[in-house]
Amino acid sequence: MMNCQQTTRLLSDALERELSIKERTSLKVHTMMCSGCRNFGKQMGTLRGLTHEFAKGGLSSESPASSDSDLEK
Ligand SMILES: [Zn+2]
Repeated sequence: MMNCQQTTRLLSDALERELSIKERTSLKVHTMMCSGCRNFGKQMGTLRGLTHEFAKGGLSSESPASSDSDLEK
């Protein structure tokens, strides 16, 4: 299980390189449980890409659409 520091670093890395499946899975799991990192990922714009990748691979049952409507909570 990654901590928040590792997660935010990976979110930054995701902008510069392609993350491995393992890294993306770890990110996904952490951001599902941690609203702080989820918001950070949204701001970085990396979470959208992650979700898109998962949606393409059919690994997530979440709807990839219309997550922009609840930016502020
Ligand atoms: Zn976190």
